[in-house]
Amino acid sequence: MVNMHPQLQELKKLLHEIDDLGSAGSLLSWDQTTYMPPGGAAARGRQLATLTKLAHEKFTAPVIGKLLAAARAENEDEDALLRVTRRDYERAIKIPVAFAAQLSEHQSQTYELWTKARPANDFASVRPALEKTLDLSRQLADFFPGYNHIADPLIDAADYGMKAATIRQVFGELRAQLVPIVKAITAQPVADESCLRQHFPEAAQLAFGQLVIRQFGFDFQRGRQDKTHHPFMTKFSLGDVRITTRVKENDLGEALFSTLHEAGHALYEQGIDPGYEGTPLAGGTSAGVHESQSRTWENLVGRSRAFWEFFYPQLQATFPTQLKPVPLATFYRAINKVERSLIRTDADEVTYNLHVMLRFDFELQLLEGKLAVKDLPDAWHARYESDLGLRAPDDRDGVLQDVHWYGGIIGGVFQGYTLGNILSAQFFEAAPHDIAGGNFKALHDWLRENIYRHGRKFTADELLQRATGQPMTIEPYVRYLRKKYGELYRL
Ligand code: ZN
Repeated sequence: MVNMHPQLQELKKLLHEIDDLGSAGSLLSWDQTTYMPPGGAAARGRQLATLTKLAHEKFTAPVIGKLLAAARAENEDEDALLRVTRRDYERAIKIPVAFAAQLSEHQSQTYELWTKARPANDFASVRPALEKTLDLSRQLADFFPGYNHIADPLIDAADYGMKAATIRQVFGELRAQLVPIVKAITAQPVADESCLRQHFPEAAQLAFGQLVIRQFGFDFQRGRQDKTHHPFMTKFSLGDVRITTRVKENDLGEALFSTLHEAGHALYEQGIDPGYEGTPLAGGTSAGVHESQSRTWENLVGRSRAFWEFFYPQLQATFPTQLKPVPLATFYRAINKVERSLIRTDADEVTYNLHVMLRFDFELQLLEGKLAVKDLPDAWHARYESDLGLRAPDDRDGVLQDVHWYGGIIGGVFQGYTLGNILSAQFFEAAPHDIAGGNFKALHDWLRENIYRHGRKFTADELLQRATGQPMTIEPYVRYLRKKYGELYRL
């Protein structure tokens, strides 16, 4: 770094300061959803808006543009830094500072409304705020004129290079494969999951989850786990990557699988090249690739037979009265139960994508103006009836179930989940994926080498090409589902 071009050095210094503001904001958000008392809500929203405004002002200042134009890269990483920073800069300067602050404050306020509205089953109390969110989301998209679909700029921000039309097509193809599998499985008796619904004390559940993720390679010297309402991963630096979970003492799967899921996100962040610290390169390259890693560790690994052949005896030793009488085969069927259900985060691997697809369609319809927020609760119930054959008894488990629209924007926030499932299988097929004996090293090394260490250096498409030799394809994912569930349900 001694020979770094002076303008690049100056740019990097400013990028570090901007990253510091962003990280301080992330820490405040983490605190807001973990330990903050309710009385902190109003000031916290303001504080987050202030930090967002400062970071946005600093990043869109003319000096950044000048340095980007003058800086010269001496190697591949510096070249990537300039490329990715230019892309972020071109996007950021289109969004006025006042708008960025207004959106941030509105998001904090709406989140607080949602935390009360959901338990109270009171969509009406959050409806005006959600209408405002839709309005702000449209305004945000309109800062990027020239799109084919109004969702495109919002999708592009999360999954760079993706468009509504591409995703519609991929989802259509996947849906055509999934629906017959769901039909065939749900024609059979539902797997018995009573073994998971006994009493499992919280402390032992958390300890077991942590034992597993330590074995995955999660570094507790550079991360920690806390409790929240809606589990997530966040990071304040590459040396401080936090995960959260929620525990239900009458449901063993809740904390365990959310822990494995968020740990997958965290392994990605902890695996980024330390040289990228504090720059725009120090993050996951897209929502889809990030989710592919959480799903890899949660599902491809954490719900596999090989994984449980190793870990089930340890789980039985942790909960002997509950699980000693339960054979591995029964437990394995229980954690892979396929069922049409109401809640996305509880959905099994086979039906999960149907939950995502309907949300994606709603986002497009809302942004297009074809669906009004006031009609969303009924549209939600109708779509669940037609796609999953059930109707939620209320909005709590209907339109209020996911935080995304209430803490973020409408548009581009759901497609990454299904893209993640598709990508997870594609990467996994190319990786050394034998995990017999609880040995995750070969897999983790491959993922770190081919995905994690690169941060945002390569786009999702580039990563895929480099690691698998192919563009995105649904085939490995469909193959994976057919094999696993074909065996489980003798299809
Ligand atoms: Zn995730």
